[in-house]
Amino acid sequence: MKHFPIFMAVEGRRIVLSGGGDAALAKLRLLMKTEAKITVFADDPAAEIMEWAADGKLRLVRRALEPGDATCAALFYAANEDDAEDLRVTRLAQADGALCNVVDNLALSQFITPAIVDRDPVTVAIGTEGAAPVLARAIKKDLEEALPARLGTLARIGKTFRHAVEALPMGRKRRDFWADYYFNTGPKALEDGEEAVQPALETLLDSHLNATARSGHIDFVGAGPGDPDLLTMKARRALDTADVVLYDRLVAPEILELARREATMIECGKTGFGPSMSQDDITALIIEHGQQGAHVVRLKSGDPAVFGRLEEELDAVEAAGLSYTIVPGITAASGAVAAIGRSLTRRGRNDGLRFITGHDMDGFADHDWKALAAPNEVAAIYMAKRAARFVQGRLMMFGADAATPVTIVTNVSRADQQIIGTTLSALPDALKDANGPAILLYGLAPRAAIAELPKLEAQA
Ligand code: SAH
Repeated sequence: MKHFPIFMAVEGRRIVLSGGGDAALAKLRLLMKTEAKITVFADDPAAEIMEWAADGKLRLVRRALEPGDATCAALFYAANEDDAEDLRVTRLAQADGALCNVVDNLALSQFITPAIVDRDPVTVAIGTEGAAPVLARAIKKDLEEALPARLGTLARIGKTFRHAVEALPMGRKRRDFWADYYFNTGPKALEDGEEAVQPALETLLDSHLNATARSGHIDFVGAGPGDPDLLTMKARRALDTADVVLYDRLVAPEILELARREATMIECGKTGFGPSMSQDDITALIIEHGQQGAHVVRLKSGDPAVFGRLEEELDAVEAAGLSYTIVPGITAASGAVAAIGRSLTRRGRNDGLRFITGHDMDGFADHDWKALAAPNEVAAIYMAKRAARFVQGRLMMFGADAATPVTIVTNVSRADQQIIGTTLSALPDALKDANGPAILLYGLAPRAAIAELPKLEAQA
C-alpha cells in the first residue's frame, strides 16, 4: 500500500485551489460537499466559479497564486491544466506548509483524491493508487447501486440515538441492536417518513433491553482450499458476523482477512505434524466461547466434513447443549482436479473414487490397497507427503502399474499453486519439489500431459 486512506477533519479549515478551468470545476464540486473554507486563485475563472463565489460558497481571488497564499491551508490543489504553472504553485503551497495534490500528476502529489460514494455521513472512498481509474469508477458504480440512497438519513438519525443505546452492554448486544436498525427496523420506518424513525428506534431499544440473554451458536465452516472466491455465501456471512473465529493453520490468510474486524481470532494448529493444540483443547475453547454467548466460527480448510474431525467437535457441542450449523466447503480434491482440468469420476473409467489419508494419528494409514492397485482406479490422497514411500510400496506390492499417473497439487487454488505430474514409481522423488500442503491425485494425469500417456489412460 503506497497510499494510506484516512478521513481528514476539514470542517472550518482552509482548502486552497489554484486554477479556474474544467479540472478546477471537477475538484470544486467535490470540495464544496465538505464544510471546509475554500479559496480559489484564478486569473480567468469559469462562470460557475464566479457564481459560487457570489453565492458565498467559496472565496475567489482573481489572480495567480503568490507566496503566502496557501498559509494555514490543510490541503492544496494545483488544477491549472498547465504543467509549468502547476509546478510553480505547488512549490509555493508546499513552502506554505500545505499538503499538495496536482491534478493528474501522481508523482508530484502528496495525496490523491479517491473516487467517492457519498451517503453522508456514510462515505466510501475507493483508491487504486492511480493504477486503474476505470476500475475505481466501476466499483463506485456498483456501490452506488448497492447502497440505498437513504442510508445517509438512517445514519444521521442513528447518530443522535447513540447515547441512548449505551443502556445496552457493549459488544454483541449493541451490534445486534444496530444491525436490526440499519437492515430491518430503520428502512421499514423510513418508508413512513423520517419522523417515524425516532419512535421506531425507541421501541426497538425497549425490545432489545428486555430480550433475554442470547445463547451462543457454533458454525462449522469450510474455508475451501485457499482462494477466497471459492468460499460459499454462507461462509462469508458467518465470517461477517463472528465474535470468535477458531481456525486451522491451513486456512489462507486472505480468508482470515474477511472475518469481522472485531472478532477474536484464535489459531488452533492441527497441521498434522509439528506443534499443535490438542483436540481436547480446541473442543474446550469452542464450548467455552459458545457458553459465553458468542457466535463462534470453527473455520476448517476445505470441507469440514473431510478429514476435519468434525464429528468429534459436533458431539461435544451437542453435549453442551449449544446450537450449531455446518457450512460445507470445497475440499482440496475438488480444487485440485479443477486445477489440472480433470474429473474425479468418468464413465467407463472409474464409477467410484476414494478419499484416503496417507497417515492418521497412529501413523501410516492402512487401506484396501489391493482394490486400489487395480487398473483405472482413482483416489485423492490427503496428508500423503510423508507417507509417499509407504503408499507407493503398498500399491506396487499389490500389483499396481509403476507407470500409473499421479498428480501432486500443492497450495491448491492459491497464487503459489504447483502442479507436478509424475508416476507411481517416481512419486517419492517428485514430492521433493513439493512445497506447502499437497494432495495426490492417484490415477489422474494433468490434462496437458494426457497425450503423452495414451496407454495408461486410454479412455481419457
Ligand atoms: N478438510 C480439508 C482436509 C484437511 S486434512 C479438505 O477438505 O480439504 C489436511 C490435508 O488436506 C493436507 O495434508 C493436504 O493433503 C490437504 N489440503 C488441504 N488444503 C490444501 C491445499 N490448499 N492444497 C493442497 N492440499 C491441501
